[in-house]
Amino acid sequence: MIVERKELSLAERLYLPAVVNGFSVTWRHFKRTVFEGRNAAKETSDGYYPEVPWKVERGYRGAPYLVRDQEGSTKCVSCQLCEFVCPPKAIRITPPGPDGPPADRDNAEKMPKEFEINMLRCIFCGLCQEVCPEEAIFLQKDYSLTGLSRAEMIYNKEKLLSLGGTHAGTQKWRHKLDEARAQEAFPIENRPAAH
Ligand code: SF4
Ligand code: SF4
Repeated sequence: MIVERKELSLAERLYLPAVVNGFSVTWRHFKRTVFEGRNAAKETSDGYYPEVPWKVERGYRGAPYLVRDQEGSTKCVSCQLCEFVCPPKAIRITPPGPDGPPADRDNAEKMPKEFEINMLRCIFCGLCQEVCPEEAIFLQKDYSLTGLSRAEMIYNKEKLLSLGGTHAGTQKWRHKLDEARAQEAFPIENRPAAH
């Protein structure tokens, strides 16, 4: 189907009416602020933003950060599932390799040598949080991320851990350790031999 393109009218081709219209809106707000003492910003639902930050509701999904456990240990085990699942490829993990730093807690084989999230790419979808087997990454409440360069918007491991803080109450690996110990002591029944 071919859609006919409407010809621009003389007024549209001149652009001047659109400019005048724009200035009339500016003048209307100027008049309200200066002569009537009303502040257009205060009349919006966000009120006094950015002087008074927006109150984030419970369950809001903002920027993803890494978290530590109650003992200050890194929870991430560098499994790279989040890197694999991230739709815009915002996560880049450098595994420790054979000579890399050892995990800073018991019962963890490794931790990432480097962990970066490009916040310019991140779409706050939450898939990294969903997929993480260690509950090591959480979308938090930060919604206003700023920086003066692209490089500044790539958050490294230390920055992600310091912004993420401690996620108290969850030490999944501890439960796993208990479960593993319980399984070690679990009596093995004699099963019929497989054919
Ligand atoms: S929130 Fe989504 S886009 Fe952002 S790092 Fe996690 S998986 Fe990637
Ligand atoms: S944050 Fe979670 S999913 Fe991502 S590498 Fe670390 S342990 Fe794996």
